Amino acid sequence: MAATLEVRSLRAHFFTKAGVVKAVDDVSFSIGEGQVLGLVGESVSGKSVTGFSILGLVDPPGRVVGGEILFKGRDLTKLSEEEWRRVRGRDIAMIFQDPMMTLNPVLRIDTQMIETVLAHEKVSEKAARARAREALVQVGIPSPDERLRAYPHQFSGGMRQRVAIAIALLHRPALIIADEPTTALDVTIQGQILYEVQKLCREMGTSLIWITHDLAVVAGLADEICVMYAGRIVEKGPVDQVLDAPLHPYTKGLIGSVPSRNVRGQKLAQIPGMTPSLLSLPPGCAFRARCPRADAACLAEPALTRPRPGREIRCFHPHLVDEVV
Ligand code: SF4
Ligand code: MG
Repeated sequence: MAATLEVRSLRAHFFTKAGVVKAVDDVSFSIGEGQVLGLVGESVSGKSVTGFSILGLVDPPGRVVGGEILFKGRDLTKLSEEEWRRVRGRDIAMIFQDPMMTLNPVLRIDTQMIETVLAHEKVSEKAARARAREALVQVGIPSPDERLRAYPHQFSGGMRQRVAIAIALLHRPALIIADEPTTALDVTIQGQILYEVQKLCREMGTSLIWITHDLAVVAGLADEICVMYAGRIVEKGPVDQVLDAPLHPYTKGLIGSVPSRNVRGQKLAQIPGMTPSLLSLPPGCAFRARCPRADAACLAEPALTRPRPGREIRCFHPHLVDEVV
């Protein structure tokens, strides 16, 4: 099956006064039709910049400096702003952590949604309104006729995010990039929204990239996961395999820091230290200062290897045999 999206050796750098920040460095992955990919990492791991790169939304002083982003075979890094306007929202949509990145505070919801429909389709205003109403129903907003006449501030945080999701779904895009859209919401609402977005994407055959720092979120959602650290993918594979038997010490550390019902009462293992500054990355493996398995070999930079079918990692000393901890 042809991939909906294939990212090849993507590099996005920020040219700041203090130096060049390699926010995304040699990142490759692909996602098939209707698949869900979890992009996981701590802050400044490069996961959001990867998402923004795919949508051509990296602003100066940042820019994509290398690689290809093939969407249905077409390289998005080569699009003009004019071509971008046709692709964005219609073929690829983004859901942001803050729904107000999507919503205009001074416009009623119906005005915004109708405008969004008409931006890409020649339909009557009546038909556009019907589509807007249907989209609100799809994301579980009660009394849609009344809600269509409301302004964003009249919604709760969770409802506002649902409206932003409804807008992202309006054109049944082939790909949605969701950047921590449920992080600011309480756990129950987060769970509901996750379930609904997953269901709608499955129904529409939409591929979904879900960016998060929370492994528990991708566990129930993604088919594949990419774990990012300091601008690079350090581990990639089918979600169950990666979570059940992580190969990379960083992934193992992340999993150990997630609360589990099985280890109730036990102290959670935190990964020691901090993520290194991307301005002054030490030579060799970027995880070296925090890694319990680091040795002299890690002063060189680990290349991406495929130790098992479908699995990729960047590490000299992966957890290849199941070890009792
Ligand atoms: Fe740890 Fe070395 Fe692997 Fe880096 S390459 S994660 S320092 S063992
Ligand atoms: Mg982010």
